[in-house]
Amino acid sequence: MDYDAQNVFAKILRGEIPCAKVYEDEAVLAFNDIAPQAPTHIVIIPKKARPCVAACDASDTEMLGRLQLAAVKIAAEKKLSAYRLVVNCGADAGQTVFHLHLHLLGGRPLTNVLG
Ligand code: AMP
Repeated sequence: MDYDAQNVFAKILRGEIPCAKVYEDEAVLAFNDIAPQAPTHIVIIPKKARPCVAACDASDTEMLGRLQLAAVKIAAEKKLSAYRLVVNCGADAGQTVFHLHLHLLGGRPLTNVLG
């Protein structure tokens, strides 16, 4: 899948549109989802340009780990006792923004497992 540099998360990374930033390091940016599905709903994205997880390869191993570890750190900072991490890959799986991202959802019981 080709990377579309005009996607909304690429624009956020370039500072062209604002976000409610929650966390940032040299590899990762995290911000509140604009349409939250739970009391805590944070989107965690790599600074690397990858349209989805299927576009990653072995050179992305560290970045993929950093995304998950950022989620764990944010969840701890938010004092979430339980949470869910979601990665949609492809339009039929619900992906609407084609820049790789992790959803961090928490703050309410999450009972509707796996679509
Ligand atoms: P997905 O459906 O997995 O591609 O998730 C994309 C997510 O990005 C959705 O939950 C949207 O609500 C969220 N989103 C779209 N535009 C923005 C934005 N400008 N700021 C924050 N979140 C956004």
